[in-house]
Amino acid sequence: MARLEIVQVPVLSDNYAYLLHEPETGATGVVDPGAAEPVQQALKEQGWSLTHILNTHHHGDHTGGNAPLQKQYDAAVVASREDQQRIPGLTHAVGDGETFMLGNATATVLAVPGHTGGHIAFWFPESLALFSGDALFVLGCGRVFEGTPAMMWASLDKMRRLPDEAQVYCAHEYTQKNAQFALTIEQDNEALQRRAQTIADLRRAGRPTVPASMAEERAANPFLRCDEPAVAEAVGLPGAAPEKVFAEVRRRKDGF
Ligand code: ZN
Ligand code: FE
Repeated sequence: MARLEIVQVPVLSDNYAYLLHEPETGATGVVDPGAAEPVQQALKEQGWSLTHILNTHHHGDHTGGNAPLQKQYDAAVVASREDQQRIPGLTHAVGDGETFMLGNATATVLAVPGHTGGHIAFWFPESLALFSGDALFVLGCGRVFEGTPAMMWASLDKMRRLPDEAQVYCAHEYTQKNAQFALTIEQDNEALQRRAQTIADLRRAGRPTVPASMAEERAANPFLRCDEPAVAEAVGLPGAAPEKVFAEVRRRKDGF
């Protein structure tokens, strides 16, 4: 039972990797190192030594740093069992509902397929921290590349059941564009209007918009609100099943 220190590391053009440091044992993980250099730099600044690499999925902007980091630190690589063949250097294959320890911190694996077939999220209950990769973004969600809309909706529904105070640490700074899109779906949502203002202010100041709390996300992220009558009506599908509404909202976002 240990709380993590979390350090956000900007990598590539708009990705975030995260350092997770468990202070009792010194165990230190990195989530989704898209490139090694900024992660090495951040580790050096903190004086931490890497023990674990955690990948939410196999895309290069999430795994590009695996090989050099694993070589330098001899770190364990934790990723989905379904991605054994496509995660560089995988040493610990995990699946839905399984837990593992990062030092004294408990991690629970949530299978959240849709963006890719093997996509997982990492939930650290003692830290109330969710690392959602490209499945759930702040005010958005990932494109559905390998699954179906129904599968992606089920994945989002699983994540939105986490506590209000859960912090969503996603893998991209896409929030401002997501907010602009969300307003095309729910222009009268006051929580969303306030968030859009805050986000614009943060970006103007060059600051990150990630993380956000699950309560904020449930109130304003249209992809988590596909069972709200207002969202169904906004996309011309009053009374439709949430996975149908999700498919239409996602289709509109793909062309936004
Ligand atoms: Zn991706
Ligand atoms: Fe990505």
